[in-house]
Order: sequence, then C-alpha cells, then structure tokens
Amino acid sequence: MNVSKPQTIDDAVLFLTEHPDAKIVAGGTDLLPRINQKLEEHAELCYIDDLPEMCEVRAEQDGSIFVGASIRLAEVAEIKILTKYTGFLQAASKVASPQIRNQATIGGNILQENRCMYFNNQVPWSDVNHCFKWGGKQCFQYKNSKECVALFQSDVAPVLISFGAKAVIRGSEGIREMPVKDLYMQAGLKNLAHNDILLGVKLPPLFKTEYSAYVRKTIRGSFDFPLVSCAVRVCVDANIIKDSRVVFGAAGVMPAELHMSNEVFIGRKIEDLPLLADELQPAVSKIIAPFQDTRINAAVRKDMAKEIFIKAIAQICQGN
Ligand SMILES: Cc1cc2nc3c(=O)[nH]c(=O)nc-3n(C[C@H](O)[C@H](O)[C@H](O)COP(=O)(O)OP(=O)(O)OC[C@H]3O[C@@H](n4cnc5c(N)ncnc54)[C@H](O)[C@@H]3O)c2cc1C
Repeated sequence: MNVSKPQTIDDAVLFLTEHPDAKIVAGGTDLLPRINQKLEEHAELCYIDDLPEMCEVRAEQDGSIFVGASIRLAEVAEIKILTKYTGFLQAASKVASPQIRNQATIGGNILQENRCMYFNNQVPWSDVNHCFKWGGKQCFQYKNSKECVALFQSDVAPVLISFGAKAVIRGSEGIREMPVKDLYMQAGLKNLAHNDILLGVKLPPLFKTEYSAYVRKTIRGSFDFPLVSCAVRVCVDANIIKDSRVVFGAAGVMPAELHMSNEVFIGRKIEDLPLLADELQPAVSKIIAPFQDTRINAAVRKDMAKEIFIKAIAQICQGN
C-alpha cells in the first residue's frame, strides 16, 4: 500500500482523480482499523489531515463559523468562537477516549463508516460471508433487508444537523456547499464522489438567545460508541420559542430528525418545554430504527431515546 501526502488541496483532488483506488485518510481512527481487519483494501492512502485550509477555524462575513475538517476533536473545546455552540462542544468531548480525540478529526467523524453486529465491529465472529458492505448480496442483521441497515454512530453529525450546519466540499468542479444532513443516504452511503474532499463545516450565526445540548447513552463512560444519542437546539426570543431542531444519532443508517418538534415547540414559552417534550415521546419512539445489536435490543434503544431526549430538554431549560 502506497501512502501519499499532497501539499495542497488542488494536488489532493488531482491525486484522487488520477487514482481511483486511493482512499482519503484524516486521523485514521475509523479507517485504519477497518483496513487492519481486512474489511477494506486500498492501493493508495491519501493523507489530507494537515492541509492548512482544513485546519482553520474562522468567522465568515455573514457571521457563520467555518470549522476545518481536520480540526481534532480534542481541539474543539479550546476554540473561543465556538464556546456558545454548547451541543457541539459536548458532542466532540464525548467521542471515544482522550487518546482517540487527540487524533480524530471533525471530518472523519461525520464521514465515519456505519457499524452493525456483522460489519466493522472488531469481533471475530463477525467474519461471516460477505454482506452488502463487503460487496455481497445479503444482510445478516436483518435477513430480509434489501440493503445495508448498519447504524451510523457519529456523535458530531446529529449536533451539526441540529445547528443547520453546511458541509463545504471541494471536488473536481470546484467548491460547493450542502446541508450536513444531505451527506447521508440510504444503505449508509455518503453523498460524496471519490475525489470530493470535505474542507470543513459552516455553523450558522447563533440566534440572539439560543440553547443547545447533546446527550448520549453508552455502556461505559468512555471509549464507547453511543447506543443512541440526542441533539437539541432551541432559539428563543422574549421567552417564546422561535425555532428548534431535535436530531437523534445511532438511530438508524443516518441521523434521524424529529420534524414534529417545531410544530409542537414554536410559539410556546420556554418554560413549557418539559411538558411539550412529553407530548413528543411517541414520535421519538417512531423515528428510532428497531435495531438490535450485541449491546441492546430494539425496545430498549427506543426507551433510551425517550430518556435522553428528556435529559437534553432539561439541560436546555437550565440555560445550556
Ligand atoms: C475504540 C473506538 C471508539 C470510538 N468511539 C467513537 C464514539 O464514541 N463516537 C464516534 O462518533 N466515533 C467513535 N469512533 C470512531 C472514530 O474514531 C471517530 O469517528 C473519529 O472522529 C474519526 O475521525 P478520523 O479523522 O480518525 O477519521 P478517518 O479514519 O481518517 O476517516 C474516516 C472516514 O472519513 C473519510 N474522510 C475523513 N476525512 C475526510 C475529508 N476531509 N473529506 C472526505 N473524506 C474524509 C475517510 O476516507 C474515511 O472513510 C471510535 C473509534 C474507535 C477505534
């Protein structure tokens, strides 16, 4: 396997275009274990983690904040202009362990591969015949499924979606932007071409009064993927809720947004939030995929989702 390290983004895009077998690596904490387990094979690795444009955090003229894709998760808490994006800070600080957060990047986190009991799970018995992700024609998780159903377990993606963040992408046609939520497609696929590089994400300017929170359930306090997670963001003016977004992680093949929250929350007083959140419990249960793995079964995952939603709302009410 060859390793290359282009010095500019132009060179990196050109290299990827000319090498269809090459794979982008940032921190490598998601990709390299898969290569070690022989779940993937690539003739070339293309390291993009220290290209200067992707290591920047800057305020844009429209008030949004650009966060470079190569910013390490451990760095997020130190960046002053991000202090008020509370949910983002919480999510970045909860990923895996301190060692992994020192190496893992924002870009790699939101583009990480999905996982299930049979794929990408570091357990020896998962080495069964090839499933959809391995180029096969079957799903071992749900025998009758026509496509991959593995869980997307990123901690950072649900929060970015709750803020309405945009992905800034450089491809062979130049730079384009798309909502982070549109990066995710059915069967756990990403809406990116082989030679597209995620340069960073743009967080919209904060509302005058804005609260956000991220809560997740894990088996252990550290070094663990979320069983299920919840990002909530609420914008308030004169005590009245003007906008909101509730997004669940580890909820299916992609983050799941609870669209009904706006119908229920907007126009109501912030102190009514806990009662309003109770009304939404059946809707929460519905959007969590009935996914069972070695950690929990489908019913427990749905119950946990309701519990963490209430916890996130409680943090919002405390002025997070
Ligand atoms: C033990 C363990 C525990 C973990 N726990 C968690 C957890 O709790 N929560 C969680 O969210 N994750 C967890 N992870 C997964 C992973 O460590 C993180 O998601 C991490 O943020 C990935 O970032 P990276 O830079 O290392 O990604 P990489 O491994 O470098 O890349 C991941 C994927 O994204 C692509 N990619 C990376 N950067 C770009 C870019 N700029 N443009 C285009 N494509 C790109 C790569 O090609 C690759 O497919 C864990 C991993 C391990 C090994």
